[in-house]
Amino acid sequence: MNSSFVAGFLEITLHMGFFDNMFKGIKHYPDSVRKRVILSAESLSRIVIESIASASNSNDIDTKKSRLDYAMKKLVELIKLANEYPFLDFRKISSIYDSIREIRNEIKEMESSQGQPQIQEPGSQQSNTTKKTKTAGQGAESAVCPYCSHILPIMPQRRTICPACNKTIYVWYSTKQNMKKLITEDEALKIEKEISENIERYEILNKHQTLDESEDEVINVQSKLKENDPNATLDDAYMFLLDKKIKDTDHDGEKARLYYLKALMLDNSGKEFFASLEESRKFELQHLKKHEFVKKVQIITSPDSCEACKTNSDTVISIDEALKEMPLPHKNCHRALYSERGFCRCSYLIVN
Ligand SMILES: [Zn+2]
Ligand SMILES: [Zn+2]
Ligand SMILES: [Zn+2]
Repeated sequence: MNSSFVAGFLEITLHMGFFDNMFKGIKHYPDSVRKRVILSAESLSRIVIESIASASNSNDIDTKKSRLDYAMKKLVELIKLANEYPFLDFRKISSIYDSIREIRNEIKEMESSQGQPQIQEPGSQQSNTTKKTKTAGQGAESAVCPYCSHILPIMPQRRTICPACNKTIYVWYSTKQNMKKLITEDEALKIEKEISENIERYEILNKHQTLDESEDEVINVQSKLKENDPNATLDDAYMFLLDKKIKDTDHDGEKARLYYLKALMLDNSGKEFFASLEESRKFELQHLKKHEFVKKVQIITSPDSCEACKTNSDTVISIDEALKEMPLPHKNCHRALYSERGFCRCSYLIVN
């Protein structure tokens, strides 16, 4: 039941389509550029929407604030992108601002009532704007407790306690469709986890997607590739350029970075990536070996590393040993990033 709900949630955010009707003045942009810009815009808007939803759902004031901050940061990136590429249409952005204002009000209320129990009578939304009264009516038919099916008199605006079973009901809503859904604590936790994972995926790829190639160059390469393979994609062109860069550099640290990016891109498109990730670690170690002061490395895991990886935690070994045994990436890592296969994100730390 939970997993289908999460799947449904992902579908909602995917189809929220800020960019449904954005095709205006696209003539002088090549198709492939347009596609890539739209993809970035979609993934950014998705992150914004999810962060806002997460801020709205959370009852912890710090989580609320940090998620909202994050959403704002990404919104700025989105606006920058739209300024650069006028074919992105922002008519729907006002609904985002409404949500942001709503969350800011909630934060203010929470700050002023800190220390008081946060039990909220459904419908006791005192001072709020006309917008809220409107939305409350719309979803009224589904205002049913997800635990005991007790019918609530009005759709709650945020986390509330069911008067019948006394359990905590969470409110999930899609900012675009103005669709509210009451969910259990387990479902809320699951959604929150889903959101952080999406954010992590986005951040990781973003951090490494610095090939520094101009769009024109990538498109050029793609048309060259098409001479031999009519189905060559933009991704193929990127991969081609990436491989060329790897070959052209003799700096081990740079090779390590490029192989890591290659592993990310391969994983992202569902292809085998382990060999590239291993190359990345190998070049990282070779790079470290060139520095005389570096003798040993420590394996760093994170609190959400998988159990396989955690067995390596804090292990200290010499660079030569590490190069021989290659403990990273962990062969049995099962913490997936994009595809099913575990993408080990453990790293080396220099110790003297
Ligand atoms: Zn109930
Ligand atoms: Zn792992
Ligand atoms: Zn690992």
